[in-house]
Amino acid sequence: MANTKRSLEERLNEGTVIVGEGYLFEMERRGYLQAGSFVPEVALEHPDVLKQVYRDYMNCGSDVVLAFTYNAHREKMRIIGKEELLEPLNRNAIRLAKEVAKEHPTEEALVAGNISNTNIFDPEDPASKDQVRAMFAEMIQWSKEEGVDFINGETFYYHEEAVIALEEIQKQDLPAVITLGLMAENKMREGMSVEESCRILSEKGALVVGMNCFRGPDTMQPYLKKIREAVDGFVGGLPIPYRTTEEHPTFFNLPDGGCSCSLPTETTFPTSLDPLYHNRYELAAWAKEAQELGVNYIGLCCGASPAMIRAIAEATGNTTINSKYSPNMEKHFLFGKDESLKTHNQDYRTKA
Ligand SMILES: [Zn+2]
Repeated sequence: MANTKRSLEERLNEGTVIVGEGYLFEMERRGYLQAGSFVPEVALEHPDVLKQVYRDYMNCGSDVVLAFTYNAHREKMRIIGKEELLEPLNRNAIRLAKEVAKEHPTEEALVAGNISNTNIFDPEDPASKDQVRAMFAEMIQWSKEEGVDFINGETFYYHEEAVIALEEIQKQDLPAVITLGLMAENKMREGMSVEESCRILSEKGALVVGMNCFRGPDTMQPYLKKIREAVDGFVGGLPIPYRTTEEHPTFFNLPDGGCSCSLPTETTFPTSLDPLYHNRYELAAWAKEAQELGVNYIGLCCGASPAMIRAIAEATGNTTINSKYSPNMEKHFLFGKDESLKTHNQDYRTKA
């Protein structure tokens, strides 16, 4: 397989494609990105850090290196007063992704450009739609010039904004993965169901349609089922790794009953979600279930760690570059079964 690189479509036809996302949270957790403004300046300020995270995700099974340009659009850069960084930031995030993708020892990883909800889309305001279109067009153009394999348009909660994204991707002849972010109202902002939105996007020619972010596996899976039933083409699902509930379906309003201090934020989002994590085995169980359901493009979003990505990759039948470091308790001094281990230590299994 060395020196060959299958397209996204070829990989989807042959099996499950694994995708690690969630760079905003991972960079913030590592200390290189400000929660709140959530702008990926790290691509310019600390390219080595971004490259390492790209590498960590790829080595733990991500088939795609998604360029970290989430929120790196003209409107966001204007708000923070750094519009002049817009183009260099976009280009650098992609170049770094390409460098890492080439490091893959058996098959070069795919590189995706990234666009997302602009937060200025207003269904009642035609001028806002033109502005959104122009913001997408320039980011897609830079992605194309830098040689990405496809574009991922994500976390759209307006159906029409997702359609604009798809149209702009298609204008530049790139494959499109469009994933929607479903807020707690459980439907698109216009009132359309998420499966209907996906059906339309798929029929319009998106290679993959589905959902990402905002919701954990438990509150995303029922909608992935509906999407799978409504759509003939490929379906994607990339939840956040948190224990969302029917009462609190997104991570924007997830309470932590055990918190012993007052938080500086109204909710646990975005910097106090840690106690609400799913463990990797729960995520692996979800990924297997999603694969059995017929979801083709499986990943994790904000909050994901490389080890979690490896767990979902392995659960769906993949061996990753770093699978040699996957958990194996055989030789652990307390819990191991190896015969050379001292049995007296095993008392601590229950007493430690
Ligand atoms: Zn996310």
